[in-house]
Amino acid sequence: MELEVIIGLEVHAQIATKSKMWCGCSNDDFDADPNMVVCAVCLGLPGALPVLNKKALDLALQTALALNCTLPAESKFDRKNYFYPDLPMGYQISQFDEPVSLDGHLKVDMKEPDESGNDRVVSQKTVGITRLHLENDAGKLTHEGDWSLVDYNRSGSPLMEIVTEPDMRTPEEARSFAEELQKILQTVGSSEANMYKGQMRFDASISLRPMGEVKLYPRAEIKNLNSFRSLEAALKYEIRRQKKLWAENAVPETETTVGWIEDEQRTQMMREKESAADYRYFPEPDLPSLSVTPEKTEELRAMLPEMPAVYRSRLKEQYALSDDEAEIAVTQMSLGRFFEEVAKATKNPKRSRTFVLNVLLGKLKEDTIDVSDSKVSVGHVVELIRAIDEGKISASVAKDVLEETYLTGKDPLSIINEKGLEQVSDTGELEVICDQILLENEKIVADFKGGKEKAFGALIGKVMAATKGQANPGVVNGILKGKLQ
Ligand SMILES: [Zn+2]
Repeated sequence: MELEVIIGLEVHAQIATKSKMWCGCSNDDFDADPNMVVCAVCLGLPGALPVLNKKALDLALQTALALNCTLPAESKFDRKNYFYPDLPMGYQISQFDEPVSLDGHLKVDMKEPDESGNDRVVSQKTVGITRLHLENDAGKLTHEGDWSLVDYNRSGSPLMEIVTEPDMRTPEEARSFAEELQKILQTVGSSEANMYKGQMRFDASISLRPMGEVKLYPRAEIKNLNSFRSLEAALKYEIRRQKKLWAENAVPETETTVGWIEDEQRTQMMREKESAADYRYFPEPDLPSLSVTPEKTEELRAMLPEMPAVYRSRLKEQYALSDDEAEIAVTQMSLGRFFEEVAKATKNPKRSRTFVLNVLLGKLKEDTIDVSDSKVSVGHVVELIRAIDEGKISASVAKDVLEETYLTGKDPLSIINEKGLEQVSDTGELEVICDQILLENEKIVADFKGGKEKAFGALIGKVMAATKGQANPGVVNGILKGKLQ
């Protein structure tokens, strides 16, 4: 029997605000000692009252708009009740039936490598977004031997939960969706979405059904995946596991919650999945309901920056970047901006591509640093490209100069002057050298005169070698042609 794979995602992303969701505690103190960034509110002490972080709300609404969601005029917060030691209030403030946003979608490029190994966009997948809502994070438990330690620094951090429709059909689609979503969050500036810091985490739901059937079968929800790689690997594992169940006529009858064991690359059953009724949701009495006016919606929409998909196609159209190069610019936003500034100033997109997205990127990759932390400025690269365009230096000399600027931060023109790297275009000077080369290489000259076209290239090579690569090849070409006629 042919089976179809059904995948949906729930993504939790920490909102990039200075303070937490309901109190004034810092939200960006990643390195603080345990339980040092807490107050009565985020510790859930009796009588402490929450106040909504307005910035968190605005960023979440902007993200929802970037995901093509609609913003209902009214929404509210609810208590999701459950006991766990990392949840000091005994409930999480979340949104149940009236979230801040609904009904969005995201288009995702699906890629495959071409013959030369470069990724090419081969199709597009549209994934429906059920909702994006707000809630607060819990604390963090660490288990050491017989002890469990709890750190409440993260308790009360603002989260967006983004829920998709079960629209994905392969682990690769789920991964591509998650990667694109990360870029959108980073572009909007609503989350750093740094997975190492736990700022973006996935729960993936997966079930199978016979191809052609419409109804959905009970799903397994894989909790707390914290990298793109584990998301893809866990889904692949679950497909194999569930296919086996179908083959053995043991189709899952209840929804389950499973965990991903990274070391063993397998999932493990944790419990039967909770339903909404288990949480006894009720409206949060300590927070008023929210209303968003159409004016507010338009104001937030107008503030949105250029989204990754638009940016990508503009880069490809305006600067003739390949799919791969555009992706580099979108993924490394500061390098993308750097490239655009260079291309605009030099009006030479081709050379800007070579020097920024090739040579400079290569150096940055070696040192795993961001361009904003390097010693090379936009001005440096512009100077260098102008020097090539004006015939002052050759492109190969320029690469060496850029390398030195990268290491020392030294101005390219000073390097060119100090090292005497300027290209020799002076006809008089080059004529003398050409005469010399012709005298010394009678055989090659004779070959050329006898009809061997290749011999001409050899003569140019000799002149270039004699000038240590600094002769202007165009000028040398002209002189030699004249002399050999
Ligand atoms: Zn607090």
